Amino acid sequence: METAGVKQITIAGGGLAGLSLGLGLRRRGIPVTLHEAGTYPRHRVCGEFISGLGEGTIDTLGLAEILGGVLRHTRTTWFVRHRKVFQTALPEPALGISRLLLDQRLSESFRQSGGTLIERSRIQDNDTAGQVWAVGRQRKKGSTWLGLKAHFINMPMTDGLEMHLGKGIYVGLTPVEDGRVNVCGLIRDPSSTSAKGPDMFLELIEKHGLGHLAVRLRNQEVDPGSFQGVNALGFGPVSVPDPGCRIGDAHSLIPPFTGHGMTMAFQSAESVLPHLEAYSKGTLDWPTAVSKSRRSLSRRFDRRLRMASRLHPFLTGSLAQTVVGLGGRLGCLPFQTLYRAVR
Ligand SMILES: Cc1cc2nc3c(=O)[nH]c(=O)nc-3n(C[C@H](O)[C@H](O)[C@H](O)COP(=O)(O)OP(=O)(O)OC[C@H]3O[C@@H](n4cnc5c(N)ncnc54)[C@H](O)[C@@H]3O)c2cc1C
Repeated sequence: METAGVKQITIAGGGLAGLSLGLGLRRRGIPVTLHEAGTYPRHRVCGEFISGLGEGTIDTLGLAEILGGVLRHTRTTWFVRHRKVFQTALPEPALGISRLLLDQRLSESFRQSGGTLIERSRIQDNDTAGQVWAVGRQRKKGSTWLGLKAHFINMPMTDGLEMHLGKGIYVGLTPVEDGRVNVCGLIRDPSSTSAKGPDMFLELIEKHGLGHLAVRLRNQEVDPGSFQGVNALGFGPVSVPDPGCRIGDAHSLIPPFTGHGMTMAFQSAESVLPHLEAYSKGTLDWPTAVSKSRRSLSRRFDRRLRMASRLHPFLTGSLAQTVVGLGGRLGCLPFQTLYRAVR
């Protein structure tokens, strides 16, 4: 039941941040209209490995049913080039679910909760009171980081997460639903290739020193429709003159090796929720709700963004990979400490 006098919240962007915020607001009886530029379901560039998502966030946003039956991963194996360097338990279980399924479940749940979801609707400005900007990552001019992903069918895996480090590349492999393994790579490559789709992905994996992985993938069945790519990726906080109320990647993009961007999208929705509720119910004006939201996001994310941004270039550099390789083989790599540093 909605109470008279409660102001509506409009959300631009129906990815994880926008949809989960919409769900959280609907649980509080707040009217929400969400505009999504695309449609559901669709594949997206993502490692599809969710780590560090706590029960508190799941409860606050009402995600328990949506995440029901999702694969839980407990171990990870790391490779530098062709060599396996270490295998360890994850400090906490991580989830494996495709974005195709996750976004679909979230969008259905949002509609069932009474939210209005308008697909193929692109919002142009972010300067209206009561409007939240959840439009995902911004392209960074001059960046040569490229993200690619595809699903491989019934592929044998060493562990819940395989990480492969090469020259200017890292590739994560994670099982998701229906016997699929999501393969997602982040590659620093300014050149172009004549190949297209999954073949281009495999060509780049090979070119960047992961030939053994390319051979393994070539022997598997790929779902060509799952292939997605995105270029000009920039990491860290988004800098814009008037940021308004921004959540998820529209606020900041943590480097993907952390497997933590999706959790941050959910957590950012959780962090702004009380301030938006106060605005909607008339106890805060919009500028105050926005500045409180920004302070909450900064308190929650600044430290981990700094740590992750420092570690990110390290992972793709050859000296660092030698250190990871040696440390892993000698059993003295502080994996658990580093894992916690980016949470
Ligand atoms: C290569 C790569 C690998 C990754 N791997 C992982 C991983 O393994 N684990 C993990 O946790 N995170 C990972 N991430 C990060 C994760 O994908 C993001 O952090 C997460 O998707 C952010 O969700 P979001 O809702 O902010 O943005 P998105 O999911 O991008 O959603 C934004 C939505 O806004 C819509 N939109 C855009 N503009 C407008 C507009 N003007 N009006 C209306 N709608 C609009 C878009 O169509 C889109 O649906 C990875 C990222 C990359 C690049």
